[in-house]
Parts: sequence; C-alpha cells; structure tokens
Amino acid sequence: MKYDDDNIFAKIIRKQLPCDLIKENNNALAFKDISPRAPIHILVVPKKGYINYHDFISDASIEEINDLNELMKNIILEMKLDHTGYRIITNTGNDGNQDVKHLHFHLLGGKNLGLMVK
Ligand code: AMP
Repeated sequence: MKYDDDNIFAKIIRKQLPCDLIKENNNALAFKDISPRAPIHILVVPKKGYINYHDFISDASIEEINDLNELMKNIILEMKLDHTGYRIITNTGNDGNQDVKHLHFHLLGGKNLGLMVK
C-alpha cells in the first residue's frame, strides 16, 4: 500500500488542520485524540509519512526513531504516567482495525484500562 499524503494526520503535521498539541520535536508530534477513550489519550506520530510500525522500523532513520521514543518518554514522565501506569497501542492493517493510515501510537492512561483485548 502506498502512503496517502492527504490522510488526516499528514494534514495536522502540515498544519493544514488544527490539533490539540501536547509536545513536538524535530521528527515527532504528540496531540490529543479527538475522541478520547480514557482520561489521557494522546497520539504520538512521526512527522514523516509512514503507514505503520513495520514501515517505520524498516525505513526511518535512527534520529526519527530516537525522536519518537524521546517524545513518548518525556510525555510519560511529565504526566507521571510512570507512577500510575499506562498503555501504548498501535493499530495496524485490517486485523488491527487501523483507521488513519499514518503510523500513530495511542498513549492511554488516567484510569485502570481493563483487559487489553475483549
Ligand atoms: P486508529 O483506529 O488506531 O487508526 O485510530 C485513529 C484515531 O485517530 C482515533 O482514536 C480517532 O479518534 C483519532 N482521530 C481522528 N481524527 C482526529 C483528529 N483530527 N485529531 C485527533 N485525533 C483524531
């Protein structure tokens, strides 16, 4: 599958659509999910276009991978999620029920999230 430059997260990254920004660095952006499933529901995305996790890990530079992980880590620490716990999810493809075809990690927390898969 080819990456579609017109997906909603690509437009957010290009600032063609607004987002509720949490934090960013050179290669990654974090913003609030528009339809939160938990008290804390943040999306962490690479700025460059990758459809999913395996594309990212195959093709991204070390700087891009480091920046995404650094952004995730800083949000976890700043929100003290390391004290309370959290969940990181990335949905991929059909079986993963991925809606937006730009890699994103859901960072969820702020309550007990229950079982991982029902
Ligand atoms: P997924 O099913 O893993 O592809 O998740 C896509 C997520 O994107 C959902 O949780 C949506 O609520 C979220 N979403 C869709 N549009 C926006 C938007 N404009 N700003 C923030 N989050 C969005």
